[in-house]
Amino acid sequence: MNIVIVPFAGVNPTYIDNLADDLLVFDCQIECVDFQNVPKQAYNTKRKQFLADTILHFVKQFPGGKVIGVMNQDIYRYVLEFVKGVADLPGRAALISIIRLLEDGNHDLMRERINKLAIHELAHTRGYEHCSDPSCVMYACDNLQQFDNMKKAICPRCLEKYAKSAYVNMNF
Ligand SMILES: [Zn+2]
Ligand SMILES: [Zn+2]
Repeated sequence: MNIVIVPFAGVNPTYIDNLADDLLVFDCQIECVDFQNVPKQAYNTKRKQFLADTILHFVKQFPGGKVIGVMNQDIYRYVLEFVKGVADLPGRAALISIIRLLEDGNHDLMRERINKLAIHELAHTRGYEHCSDPSCVMYACDNLQQFDNMKKAICPRCLEKYAKSAYVNMNF
């Protein structure tokens, strides 16, 4: 099992290096492809945002067990105006946008926040849905304070609930 990181132009390469290191705690190989340009057709000129699903589709062309795109532009999906990430539920592709993780300008917390967001979206690809426990990484956060209160792990209740249904090989 491996996770392929697809970084997009505009993301600080240090964030990508850190994420690659942080995801190593899971029992899988991490690969990084070259920086990509964000597909132009994903841009909505009226909204001045990128349609997440178009970019998720682009990310899927890269082979690998799981693929996760990392970008620094604002994304939206259907009725959701601003989203931090999207993923197949379940499936193999995830996408995160780090721009909303920096809204309070706190660069010190970025590594931790990006790591949590990546775990959250990759867990969706394994079939995990949202959880009502605010400390669970699968909690659906409304703001950065809630995000920072979340742990980097899936809560025991979720682990038990999905023990039989989630497909394995990623050691969350
Ligand atoms: Zn989610
Ligand atoms: Zn949970």
